[in-house]
Amino acid sequence: MRVFQSPHELKKELRGLHVSIGFVPTMGALHNGHISLIKKAKEENEIVVVSIFVNPTQFLKGEDLDKYPRKEQADKRICELAGVDYLFYPNAEDIYEKDEVKLCAPDVRGYILEGETRPGHFSGVLTVVMKLLNIVNPTNAYFGKKDAQQLMLISLMVKQMFMDVNIVPVETMRDNLGLALSSRNEYLNAEEKVEALKIPSALKKATSLVVSGVYETKTIIDEMKMILEPLDVSYIAIVSREFIPIATIQTGNSMILVEAVVGNTRLLDNIWL
Ligand code: AMP
Repeated sequence: MRVFQSPHELKKELRGLHVSIGFVPTMGALHNGHISLIKKAKEENEIVVVSIFVNPTQFLKGEDLDKYPRKEQADKRICELAGVDYLFYPNAEDIYEKDEVKLCAPDVRGYILEGETRPGHFSGVLTVVMKLLNIVNPTNAYFGKKDAQQLMLISLMVKQMFMDVNIVPVETMRDNLGLALSSRNEYLNAEEKVEALKIPSALKKATSLVVSGVYETKTIIDEMKMILEPLDVSYIAIVSREFIPIATIQTGNSMILVEAVVGNTRLLDNIWL
């Protein structure tokens, strides 16, 4: 595995290869969720590039930028073992200059749900993903369904900016109790980990309601609220794949998204129905 810090050097190296490139952008503290993206990228491309960059522009003031877990040595080892060909590991100064061109998230879909609790977050995400895609110029780029709104906005950006990359959604990996894997799970203590399981339980309940023929979203949300109590729930939303709120579940075109704060940790999860 070769490690690059300089965007220009990586770009030059990759441009000379003339092979299919699978790209997995991450913020590090790698877990099995990230590894599943890497595995899929390896299956579908000749070479795999992973980036590890804790992107400052997607954190709001007062958020966890400074304490976000950083595990350089362990992450490098994981990438090596997973068969990554190139690891891109830049610093903020390698990616950003002063007085920058920025991308803005769309006014509606970038400022609902996660974008409402974290206004401006998705503009930072889109800006960095645009930069990373321009550096790597991958054939396929892999993103987790766990961050469903992020995935939707990146797909919109690629379509609306006429970009030449295939965005590949990857299923959410969970631990053996059902909690969606996340680098932020490290912030949870033992008690909070148990509390956090209310999130997958509520989504499981929603699924079983739909399977039993309950399609009315209000009924589903009310049942989920009961299971999630007493967590601090930021939102429960049932939307179409285009993120338009819906009154009844349309199988094959619906998503249930939850954000809840456990202790001081914001956790996201969803199911696609
Ligand atoms: P992050 O390092 O949290 O920015 O995540 C990097 C990529 O991994 C994003 O595309 C995430 O959606 C994806 N990801 C994070 N957690 C999971 C998970 N549990 N299962 C699958 N993909 C995930």
